[in-house]
Amino acid sequence: MPQLEIFPLYSGSSGNATLVKADGINILIDAGVSCKRLCEGLVSIDVDPDSIDYIFITHCHSDHIAGVDVFERHHPAPLYTTADTCYVIESACRKKFGGEMIEIGQKDCVTLSDTVKVMSCPTPHDAAGSVCYKVIAGDKSFLLLTDVGHLTEEIVDFAYGVDGALVESNYDVRMLIYGFYPDELKARVAGDGGHLSNEECADLIKVMIEHGTEQFIIGHLSDKNNTPKQAVSTIVDILAKSDLVRNRDYRLSVAERYEPTDGMIL
Ligand SMILES: [Zn+2]
Ligand SMILES: [Zn+2]
Repeated sequence: MPQLEIFPLYSGSSGNATLVKADGINILIDAGVSCKRLCEGLVSIDVDPDSIDYIFITHCHSDHIAGVDVFERHHPAPLYTTADTCYVIESACRKKFGGEMIEIGQKDCVTLSDTVKVMSCPTPHDAAGSVCYKVIAGDKSFLLLTDVGHLTEEIVDFAYGVDGALVESNYDVRMLIYGFYPDELKARVAGDGGHLSNEECADLIKVMIEHGTEQFIIGHLSDKNNTPKQAVSTIVDILAKSDLVRNRDYRLSVAERYEPTDGMIL
């Protein structure tokens, strides 16, 4: 029976990486911390960095690609991402990129084995070629959705019916408005090409629960405009208004910023 296990290794603007074990295949999604920290994170959950079979990158911001070149030199694995992201990764390398890069479309499907495939869907974000990914193993599926300026109909359709998801819950609206960020940065974060607020995350989780998803991890929380406690209470309160109760109708945890989070098994 194919199984999916998800381990967020790092999450937030200081660096993102998530390990997905999909029916015997180890997939790393994003590599936004140093190679050293990536390896430390993997080893801490008993995964040999050499056992990474594939790397998928969501977009070209440094908190998603910072360690990818060095990691690829030491632990080569085919890397899949969109043409725009390939271009930025290659340009950022001092020498030629150390690994094998395979271009995919923003709406694509990569078959990795008889039972495992990875699908992409475009995300509105201020980086060309941004995508989110859905990993499918047999009849199980997992969605990783971060760095999303706003929810599009396409994303909501893409999210429907997955068994589990890691969804961005970047900022608390009041903390952002009254915080010390310059106005320009506030507008960028809250804008159409920025990030999802706790409220927007709750709206998505609500419709996903209504379509059968039960397990959620929230991630990419801002360290200035959010706290894990604030994000969870906002989401739980919004869902309660629709009579959706935590630990009865859904499970919700928070991806840690600096260390691996307990795995989600689907
Ligand atoms: Zn990011
Ligand atoms: Zn980003």
